[in-house]
Amino acid sequence: MSNIDYSFDKQHLWHPYSNLSEPAQVFAVTKAQDCLLTLADGRQLIDGTSSWWACVHGYSHPQILSAMSAQMQQLSHVMFGGITHEPAIRLGKQLLAMTSPNLTKVFYSDSGSVAVEVAMKMALQYWQGKGKPTKQQMLTLKRGYHGDTFAAMSVCDPDTGMHNLFNHALTPQCFADAPRVPFNEPITPADVAALETVFANHHHELAACIIEPIMQGAGAMFFYSADYLKVLRQLCDKYEVLLILDEIATGFGRTGKLFAYEHADIEADLLCLGKALTGGHISLAATLCSDEVALGISQSSTSVFMHGPTFMANPLACAAASASLSLIATGQWQTQVAMIEQQLKAELADVDSASAVKAVRVLGAVGVIEMTHAVNTSLLQPRFVELGVWVRPFGRYIYIMPPYTISSAQLSRLTQAMGIVARELSVQPLPSDTPCHG
Ligand SMILES: *Cc1c(COP(=O)(O)O)cnc(C)c1O
Repeated sequence: MSNIDYSFDKQHLWHPYSNLSEPAQVFAVTKAQDCLLTLADGRQLIDGTSSWWACVHGYSHPQILSAMSAQMQQLSHVMFGGITHEPAIRLGKQLLAMTSPNLTKVFYSDSGSVAVEVAMKMALQYWQGKGKPTKQQMLTLKRGYHGDTFAAMSVCDPDTGMHNLFNHALTPQCFADAPRVPFNEPITPADVAALETVFANHHHELAACIIEPIMQGAGAMFFYSADYLKVLRQLCDKYEVLLILDEIATGFGRTGKLFAYEHADIEADLLCLGKALTGGHISLAATLCSDEVALGISQSSTSVFMHGPTFMANPLACAAASASLSLIATGQWQTQVAMIEQQLKAELADVDSASAVKAVRVLGAVGVIEMTHAVNTSLLQPRFVELGVWVRPFGRYIYIMPPYTISSAQLSRLTQAMGIVARELSVQPLPSDTPCHG
């Protein structure tokens, strides 16, 4: 397939976090199957990204494809206003059965960022309904990432997020320090006191606390102590602040538990899901909430929740998600993720001896090499392709989160490539560019 019109792409198509005046190299993919991406020139790459956390069962999974094609023959789309359908109901039942029992209501949307917007809007409407209209601000953590739309951006890290670009257009929010204690280590009374001070000083304005449980993803690639979550849950209860857990990256097994909040044994008032929800086959997101939140919203001035995406609960996407959750329900992911974790720990262990490597971290099916300096993605990307793998570093992070179905031999190819590149950067540091999420 040499008829790919790269020059059209270069001139006219935006890519994530791209520059159309000096576009970076892109690679045409013609097919994706299991854990392999096939390029237009016939080369095959082992995928280390799951296409940004999403494709957990591998690409083109036969059960998800057949659920989608059956659904497509019957009902590929219909508006959700005033209408319902079986795929939305089935998926809703599956979601409520697998999440904590206090979550009873599901709002479907198209993407993770919108699921976050919906959760934030729900929290604001809830406090209006409760007669506490001053509670309109979000508390969040530095180094967090919650998406690229405006409300989502307002709770991303103020430095690495886009606050300096859009300062005047963003709602000012309340930021607590990023968690510093790693996963599996206890936090100190000083950490607790620091968090409590923020609540004590701001709770009259705080509608909700929104965080990524256990793993700060795109903003930090850092796994933190479950104690933070336990303390945040207690403080949210004490100071009447809703807790929004953004599990868009961590949900559906990625950190070794079905949901990352299970590491801390806590419940969210609102839960955002996306990315792996459809096994990465089509876009869909969901915001779950408790009876209490739904009741508060119904007591607000409009009495209805003011949101309704055109493609809400798209049947095709619901069918894909339903099939993906049936695969999750077999429980196979548990063994797969545990084996990936073990292998990542073993094979990345000696990489931190390279001089440009600051730290190596592994949790569940996520392996991270943090470099001492930001890497140049547009230089490293072709190098990884040369090595036969698809790995897309950003900022200081060379990381993978492969499909759970990856074979041990394929995973070794990925960790070898990561090690090779980290060592090459240690011998001859490449010029760095500005960190970005892409
Ligand atoms: C990716 C991500 C989002 C945004 O999801 P999109 O589907 O890209 O809008 C929000 N929160 C977290 C934690 C994410 O990883």
